[in-house]
Amino acid sequence: MESVYLGLGTNLGDKEKNLKEAVELISNFPKTELIKVSKVYETEPWGYTEQDKFLNLCLEVKTELAPYQLLAECQGVEKDLDRERKIRWGPRSIDVDILLYGDLALSDQKLTVPHPRIQERVFVLKPLAELDKKLVIKGRSLLEWIELLDEQGIKEYGELG
Ligand code: ATP
Ligand code: MG
Ligand code: MG
Repeated sequence: MESVYLGLGTNLGDKEKNLKEAVELISNFPKTELIKVSKVYETEPWGYTEQDKFLNLCLEVKTELAPYQLLAECQGVEKDLDRERKIRWGPRSIDVDILLYGDLALSDQKLTVPHPRIQERVFVLKPLAELDKKLVIKGRSLLEWIELLDEQGIKEYGELG
């Protein structure tokens, strides 16, 4: 079993419902156990800023799925929630990213873990720190990465009901 951290984001439609449905689908992945869900954070859009605010959360799962199987499952969730890709970093009903997969480091066209932009994103670092403060990413602890960033543009939204 590998310990895996996933990052979810949504800024289209009923965002809370999107998160709930996604977490429910993830909890039903084969060979996978849902361990922990962070609080929900409300964040200003990133990358492409002419769009609605996001709700983000992270979760921890334990899984026996191999990395590419897990990626396929995550993309299945996006498909189930009718995600369309029109604009890079643009509006989406759900985004499910693999942030960390155990201690694995790999990078190819389909999959890069750790996720290449974790350390730039306070909306990923904060919920991750809630799940496990001791996580180390690319040689720095989460708290060190958070200190390097501007914490504006994010606020706690609450627990996922
Ligand atoms: P970002 O990657 O900056 O968060 P995004 O999540 O909006 O942007 P997507 O459109 O969801 O990007 O994904 C684009 C591609 O990224 C996917 O087709 C997938 O193959 C690839 N990818 C690479 N590494 C990962 C990862 N760790 N988790 C999810 N997708 C990944
Ligand atoms: Mg993403
Ligand atoms: Mg993605």
